[in-house]
Amino acid sequence: MTALPQSAQTSLLREYQEHLLGVFGTPQAVLVRGEGARVWDADGNAYLDFLGGIAVNALGHAHPRWVQAVSEQAQTLGHISNLFTSPQQIALAEKLLELAGAPGGSRVFFANSGSEANEAAFKLARRQGRENPGPLGPRSTVVAVDGSFHGRTMGSLALTAKAAYREPFEPLPGGVVHIAPTVEALEGAIDDGVSALIVEPVRGEQGVHALPDGWLQRARELTREHGALLILDEVQTGIGRTGQWFAFTEQLAPGELPDAITLAKGLGAGFPIGAMITVGSEVSGLLSAGQHGTTFGGNPLATAAALATLQIIEDDDLMSNVRSVSKVLTDGLTGMQDVTTVRAHGFLIGFDVTDERDAEAQASAPLGAAVVAAARSAGFLLNATGPTTIRLAPPLIVSQAQAEDLLAALPEILDQARQAANA
Ligand SMILES: *Cc1c(COP(=O)(O)O)cnc(C)c1O
Repeated sequence: MTALPQSAQTSLLREYQEHLLGVFGTPQAVLVRGEGARVWDADGNAYLDFLGGIAVNALGHAHPRWVQAVSEQAQTLGHISNLFTSPQQIALAEKLLELAGAPGGSRVFFANSGSEANEAAFKLARRQGRENPGPLGPRSTVVAVDGSFHGRTMGSLALTAKAAYREPFEPLPGGVVHIAPTVEALEGAIDDGVSALIVEPVRGEQGVHALPDGWLQRARELTREHGALLILDEVQTGIGRTGQWFAFTEQLAPGELPDAITLAKGLGAGFPIGAMITVGSEVSGLLSAGQHGTTFGGNPLATAAALATLQIIEDDDLMSNVRSVSKVLTDGLTGMQDVTTVRAHGFLIGFDVTDERDAEAQASAPLGAAVVAAARSAGFLLNATGPTTIRLAPPLIVSQAQAEDLLAALPEILDQARQAANA
């Protein structure tokens, strides 16, 4: 038998493995082009993208208006440092404050990623500890929640719950405690020694798990009562992902706001940008001139990309699309053979697949990974957040017809995955 000619992907992936740090394992494919919700790999295979660069590509790929905004800005003024500002930066800050319903005195800090936005929030929390000590003395504790993911840099990693991510890098910044997402644990943890509670309204990396009903409102009341900040990590849930600009609006009582909100993933629709919104003048005053900074954060190119993203989401009413197509996906997944729980928050959808094999077989060939591989062979990009948990985070532009394509293909994908995992 003659050897098959090597595919473009196979040889590129070999080069990848020789030259890139191995922290991501072996990438699933070498992608070369995208248009709308479709991407193509280096061998010409097409995929429908139900992962959206992990909840980033809000507008899909190469959205013409986004491309135009980024191109025009690149041709005009790209980067200037934060010793200067630009009309785009100011306009984006104003727009975010308006969308959040933040009162006068609220402010925005721009960063380049979710981790960086959370680093800023962590430093904000430390200032609350200093400027506003409680009756118990300096506020030294930051409370975070089990199952949370806040990033991989040292500060955001200290806030992240998962031991496997944290332990190899200890000692991490101290004073962080993780609590179970129950009202009892919350009531036990928030006291006058706490500077901040940081929490995701829906824990995405954990497999799309919401907080219990009423939890976040109770957290708002307790943090206010004890002088601690309520910081919401909306890096994954923000910017229309759940069918609302911010996921907290469905969990806090009307008119209630957190003290700070961090954003990133969907904000630039693929252009790296992060942000922290500080609510009200007191919180916004916690970080003063010289206490924090970034070279790239909020440059004209990134803020023009984000402004275009927000404008397109608004003009094309993409959040209505998210709400209606989410329902199609949820209805289709619910009751599908081998699919157990479906947890949908707009276009952040987690579901579990049944796996009756013994623990050893499950560990050696995780079904979730097999589902991802079988989906890819069938022309769909999905993601497994756990051994039996699949996450969908498609571009906000995914149509009902594209959702129906996935639903039609899924039973066969699950079947193929089961066979592959058992082989
Ligand atoms: C992805 C994510 C982060 C980290 O963002 P990076 O841009 O990867 O640094 C933080 N918090 C949440 C909730 C996320 O989903």
